[in-house]
Amino acid sequence: MEIPIFDLKKQYKLIQKEIENSVKQVLKNGHYILGPNVDALEKSVATYCGTSYAIGVASGTDALRLSLLSLEIGKDDEVITTPFTFIATAQAITQIGAKAVLIDIEEDNFNMDLDKIEEAITEKTKAILIVHIFGHTMDMRKLLSIAKKYNLFLIEDAAQSFGSECNTASFDSPPQWKKAGAMGDIGCLSFYPTKNLGGFGDGGMVITNKKEITDKMRSLRMHGGNSNNYSYDLLGYNSRLDEVQAAILRIKLRYVDQWIKLREKRASLYNKVLSKIPSIKIPVCKPYTKHSFHAYTIKTPLRDKLKKYLEKHGISTKIYYPIPVHLQKMYKNLNYDKLNLPVAEKICKQVLSLPVYPELEEEKILYVAKKIVSFF
Ligand SMILES: *Cc1c(COP(=O)(O)O)cnc(C)c1O
Repeated sequence: MEIPIFDLKKQYKLIQKEIENSVKQVLKNGHYILGPNVDALEKSVATYCGTSYAIGVASGTDALRLSLLSLEIGKDDEVITTPFTFIATAQAITQIGAKAVLIDIEEDNFNMDLDKIEEAITEKTKAILIVHIFGHTMDMRKLLSIAKKYNLFLIEDAAQSFGSECNTASFDSPPQWKKAGAMGDIGCLSFYPTKNLGGFGDGGMVITNKKEITDKMRSLRMHGGNSNNYSYDLLGYNSRLDEVQAAILRIKLRYVDQWIKLREKRASLYNKVLSKIPSIKIPVCKPYTKHSFHAYTIKTPLRDKLKKYLEKHGISTKIYYPIPVHLQKMYKNLNYDKLNLPVAEKICKQVLSLPVYPELEEEKILYVAKKIVSFF
């Protein structure tokens, strides 16, 4: 049996008619970039996430970069972030000229260690850029209070957590669930095809409750202009979302909750079997989060052998991530390799992500789980 890590064709087939009709409409309309579909998608995503505004951009990476720029973060500024993420998070900080200050992660949920944030804050710190890794949100209650105490911007990289939720109520109050990306000053979304809400190409979005950030972002994505009169106030970029992607995403957004439920169901099927294996740690799901299982990531000291074994049986898996940010070659000139981030380094040697996409049949999940049992 062949089980790929993703199968985007399957999802396409489920909604093929709707997608093709809407794309055809765009092609006929002749409006291809930042048009009515982008406007409508921005409104729907803002409503879905519970924010006042959403601004479509060309990618999740651009969402991060433009967010930092819109907050006027740059040279001599420091931004605290995690070493255990997709490289775009750290690259965005470095590319706008600021310093990425990396702090270690929590061993069980792979997110930034909240207890290490305060000691990393200096007078140069402008923002905390958090990542809700794999779909498990950070504990925002504590984080929001730290950001407030030190007057720092809080940016959420929610590229992997579209649809995830976090309880933001204080500890003794009834729960108050909020969507990932909607809790800080700015949330950054990615519509890369394999994300929880994925387009048929690159795309991204910024969500926020702040009008000032929204205006700036709308300008930054169009070369820094303030209208269509060819006058430019800011050093902006070409970073726009196109109509074909927006039309496709508008349709997919209607299904996203259903797909997340299917991801959760697949995760719990894995959990049932894999929790019985002593040398595997299944993903945790803390009481303050509703995990969307963008990835289902186990930990085992026998990771490399297990990966090979599963490959031999037609099951493809992925290592997110084999190398932490600070050990990437591109950061060697900044001496990041000297940083002491032992948990991130250890985790990178143990993690393995299993196929968990919504269209993967339950019997195939059980097949993967059974193969893992037989390996051990
Ligand atoms: C995918 C991803 C990004 C970048 O998104 P793109 O749309 O691919 O540019 C940024 N951060 C994280 C954590 C991601 O997973």
